[in-house]
Amino acid sequence: MNSSKVMDIAFHLTDVSGPRLTVSPGFTRAANYAIQQLKSWGLSSAALDPWGDFGKGWELQRSYIAMSAPYYKPLIGVPKAWSAGTAGLQSADVMLVSAKDSAALEAYKGKLAGKIISLERTDPYMQSFQPDAQRYIDDSLISMANAKPSERGLRDTAALRRRREQFAGQRAALALPALLKTMAKNDGAIAVLSGSARSHDGTVFVQGGGGYKTTDPENLLDFALTIEDYMTIVRMLKTGIQVKLEMDVKTKFTTDDTKGYNVIAEIKGTDKKLKDEVVMLGGHLDSWHGGTGATDNAAGCAIMIEAVRLLQTLGIKPRRTIRIALWSGEEEGLFGSKGYVKKTFGDPATMVLLPAHEKFSSYFNVNNGTGKIRGIYLQGNEAARNIFTSWVQPFNDSGARTITIANTGGTDHQSFDAVGLPGFQFIQDPIEYSIRTHHSNMDTYDHLVEADLKFNAAIVAAFVYNAAMSDEKVPRKELPKPDTGQRGF
Ligand SMILES: [Zn+2]
Repeated sequence: MNSSKVMDIAFHLTDVSGPRLTVSPGFTRAANYAIQQLKSWGLSSAALDPWGDFGKGWELQRSYIAMSAPYYKPLIGVPKAWSAGTAGLQSADVMLVSAKDSAALEAYKGKLAGKIISLERTDPYMQSFQPDAQRYIDDSLISMANAKPSERGLRDTAALRRRREQFAGQRAALALPALLKTMAKNDGAIAVLSGSARSHDGTVFVQGGGGYKTTDPENLLDFALTIEDYMTIVRMLKTGIQVKLEMDVKTKFTTDDTKGYNVIAEIKGTDKKLKDEVVMLGGHLDSWHGGTGATDNAAGCAIMIEAVRLLQTLGIKPRRTIRIALWSGEEEGLFGSKGYVKKTFGDPATMVLLPAHEKFSSYFNVNNGTGKIRGIYLQGNEAARNIFTSWVQPFNDSGARTITIANTGGTDHQSFDAVGLPGFQFIQDPIEYSIRTHHSNMDTYDHLVEADLKFNAAIVAAFVYNAAMSDEKVPRKELPKPDTGQRGF
């Protein structure tokens, strides 16, 4: 705790590397930094490890947007990932599209050329009466600890978030904004604007703006704005006041290497019988591009990198091999961890297992923001309860004691769970994750809580140490049946 390097690691992954979209220069900078650090501390075989084909690389190289009429006003916005640029500075009228269904959209067909397109919204502005940052209160932790196996996902914010996003994504594919964007592109519009009630007070939540496979066509520029700026434009257009915007956006696509890579490194096991068995720890290194992915998930990566540094610096001789993995392609569908598990341990679709499956102890993941670890989700594995209760015991007085049978979803431990390997994620205080930083332009270094990250690295190091040293591997659940549907994770 007193000589932690976790904030220095986080600084290099965020401020120094920049945004870390999968297959982007920022991701490569962060991955190379991690490899170089892990090597410098003496870890073995630190390297990039390809998991499969991702698609186009993309980088935002310039982003300017402002209102120029009826008066000048800077706007707060971020282009969605994989958007095309504007080919220089453009100045154009904003056209308001007032349509409640696809039939009403037809009236605008052929009229969108050279315009910036804004779909009318009517959502009322929501004042915030909640504090941004919160910690779990004892009642919440007690109800998690007392959860029944049937109450899967209780207090399961990561899973709920992912599910909401999936449903939103499916709806969006059929929804008006997507139809309008296609029409705007076909007509030759300059860009579309996107507003979201979630994006307020200077915070813009921004993800992908269309396909990124090499076979996908280029996506029209889609500029995500804060709801205040978006509604300013909509209100004036509705009363017939002409609104002009200036935009200059430059984006760069690359196709020279479309593969996705994880970062992998090891502390070799030393016990004659157990050294071929493996304990893993990890988090996803890729991020969205609006901020620098500090809480999602430089925090988790910095914790994992610091945890292996602590173990290495202490000179422990682990009985089992300890392997760190920093994944990519998580944001687009857990691709990095899925690809790694499939080629290393087995295929969830067939449940044909590889020899390494038998030699695996457990995987520990952190991807719920910057908040302090308060305990661990058993992921339905009741047989691990007593073991984890004893491993977390030294941290009870510091506030980490909750063991819950509940699952948490939405991220990379599920790739292990899907082939019947013990994969776990920790319970973390939410802090500002959902309300402020998760996939937003405010996901930056300043939103990291130093004391929490230091503590988290120590507790993760302790869990990994225990898993590497104990006589038995972490017990497993029953093997799942082959599932071509990938259990929807
Ligand atoms: Zn995320």
